[in-house]
Amino acid sequence: MSERPPEKTLAELASPNHECRACGYVYIPSQGDQKTNISPGTPFEALPLNWKCPVCGAPRNYFMSTGETDAPSGFAENLNYGFGFNRMSGGKKNLLIFGSLFVIFLFFLSLYGMG
Ligand SMILES: [Zn+2]
Repeated sequence: MSERPPEKTLAELASPNHECRACGYVYIPSQGDQKTNISPGTPFEALPLNWKCPVCGAPRNYFMSTGETDAPSGFAENLNYGFGFNRMSGGKKNLLIFGSLFVIFLFFLSLYGMG
């Protein structure tokens, strides 16, 4: 009855986010979870067996890997805001932001398409 994905390579290199299929809460390993006392950097696989969704209380097996990690991309985005990004005109900035959002959206679409 296990629903773990067959391939483990990506998950082992950088533990992916896991989404609660009951309520949509996303467990982000780089952030951990304060409500349930999980310290940042705890991979989903290392959570206690009796760990439950902090939002709706669903058990661990309700969670599904989203296949992506949060830490590196978030860091890069912050860097962009710090260096040079602010010098661009508002229009260009918006174009960049919405452009990258659109790319992320496409990425999710392709993920769900494969699943
Ligand atoms: Zn939930």
